[in-house]
Amino acid sequence: MRVLVTGAFGNVGLSALTELLKQGHQVRCFDLKTRANERAGRRFGRALEVVWGDLRRPADVGRAVAGQEAVIHLAFIIPKLSATGIESEAQPDWAAAINVGGTRNLVEAMQAQPQPPKLIFSSSLHVYGLTQEQPPPRTSSDPVQPLEHYARHKVECEEMIKASGLTWSIFRFAAVLPIAMKLDPGMFDVPLDNRIEFVHTRDVGLALANGLSCPEVWGKTLLIGGGPQCQLYYRDMASQILDGMGVGMLPGRAFGAQPFATDWLDTTESQRLLDYQRRTLSDYLHDMAALLGFRRRMIRLFRPGVRRWLLGRSPYFAASRAIGSAGQRGPRKVALVTGASSGIGAATARRLATEGYAVALVARREERLHALAGEIRAAGGEASVIAADLSDEAAGQQVFDKVRAAYGAIDVLVNSAGFGWYGYGAEMPWPLARQMVEVNALAAMRLTLLFLSDMLARGRGHIVNISSIAGNLPNQGIALYSATKSFLDNFTTSLYRELAGTGVHVSIVKPGPVATEFWDAPTQVPGLRIPGERLAAVRPEAVAQRIGALLRRPRRVIYVPRWLGFVPWVEPALSWLLDRLGPLLLRRQVKTAR
Ligand code: NAP
Repeated sequence: MRVLVTGAFGNVGLSALTELLKQGHQVRCFDLKTRANERAGRRFGRALEVVWGDLRRPADVGRAVAGQEAVIHLAFIIPKLSATGIESEAQPDWAAAINVGGTRNLVEAMQAQPQPPKLIFSSSLHVYGLTQEQPPPRTSSDPVQPLEHYARHKVECEEMIKASGLTWSIFRFAAVLPIAMKLDPGMFDVPLDNRIEFVHTRDVGLALANGLSCPEVWGKTLLIGGGPQCQLYYRDMASQILDGMGVGMLPGRAFGAQPFATDWLDTTESQRLLDYQRRTLSDYLHDMAALLGFRRRMIRLFRPGVRRWLLGRSPYFAASRAIGSAGQRGPRKVALVTGASSGIGAATARRLATEGYAVALVARREERLHALAGEIRAAGGEASVIAADLSDEAAGQQVFDKVRAAYGAIDVLVNSAGFGWYGYGAEMPWPLARQMVEVNALAAMRLTLLFLSDMLARGRGHIVNISSIAGNLPNQGIALYSATKSFLDNFTTSLYRELAGTGVHVSIVKPGPVATEFWDAPTQVPGLRIPGERLAAVRPEAVAQRIGALLRRPRRVIYVPRWLGFVPWVEPALSWLLDRLGPLLLRRQVKTAR
């Protein structure tokens, strides 16, 4: 078949050319005479006929269309963000002259042929507008709601073509990524939680070529996507591509938060008719790796610099940094701190308030929380109080709802509420044991899970769980306490591994003894203390200062003081000694207390 391809040397065009030639078609290309296009054309040698021209000039278009049996119309100005602005959006009149005016010239030239050729028009899922709130997938009969000029141009062209009297088919494409070493800053526009469907550019080329010989495509609008195995969330797609390039996932704040026109598509019919879904994102990553070749090693070697360069291209990252450095002028970050009426929680809340966070304070002793909130406000900070008994199962959800109502979302959660009990496990009152599990383990877990989904949706946030060095030392006298802390350790560590690349962080803070009310709490047996606890204790402000640093430089675990980092090795290496020494120490402590 004699086939004209407009926009032949673009991303999809090159895939279509390859497939059309493979299927034995006689291909004529129409494109602008630029150096890059000439170079691309030379790759095909004499296999192609090229007509250089401009869609806006009817004479050029007439020359290209003459004698063709089919036209694949790909040429279009896309909404690409560039250093000079969004192309189809910054210059909509110029873009409309090419997109709509050019398509009109093409349609008229085709109508003027003695035997008008068939037309496949490349449209886009952008015509559906913002659909993330609707259940997927999009179907070809869904209403169109074009938002940008680009999508409006596509809809206008679709209508023009349907009314043209020509034999037509409209292909609406999912995300067709070019296999190229060009950075499209538009990659930062898609929020990480958006549904997005990938389709390999070669599969699109195959779909277009197969379309020409399929009698059932005419008069139909078909959705062209990679199929269920290519339906992803943008976070997964971006992280796989960035990882594949050796750059590694970028922080969530490098990406936009405004909903974007992407979605999953129902491609059942297009696949039935065109049988084109052969490749997945893994094939694309493979192609990119081959294209990068040795440069991938260089990227790995200079990774920090490459990441900085990439982040410099994200307008969202630049804006988030501007907010950070503008201090009070930008919207404040919000931190929720539990156990804020005393000790580590109170010191952390104070610290975060001085670092510019609005803090929400949670504990049972409301008057203490109000006193701290007053102190923070007097110093120019922002604080609110949520009184809650976290041993109550409903409290986690209530705190979450109140925080959401007051702030919408939070950036940091510090789970510090907790208490201890020292003595023989067999003597621990059951109500207290139960309460310890409820506060130290269950409440921290509940709040973590509640806020985690919110943070994942935003692609940023940090959860800090205050554990204890006791989580690594299941010593005599702290049976249940150390169990609750090791629960928190494992829970947080697993999440940390699940969250890699999401932009959301979880960390464990493992203090040794800290000089707080912990040992004087009414829950403790009076006078009974771990030996040497007072001597070794650090101030809660030291823990708070390390938490502040942790938020700036997220890590899985920190020890306070740092030298306690060796403790995880003590239990496996010296358990035989602890088994012998421990009982003696506890017996002595209990005897002294009584
Ligand atoms: P703290 O001064 O006694 O503070 C404990 C905080 O937890 C208080 O604000 C208390 O508030 C809150 N809390 C206790 N039960 C609660 C409940 N049912 N509902 C809501 N809040 C509750 O002790 P800390 O030293 O700061 O301890 C903070 C965290 O650090 C704990 O998780 C502890 O296990 C851990 N830690 C402490 C040490 C240490 O030596 N101090 C060492 C390692 C780890 P209300 O009483 O007002 O409710």
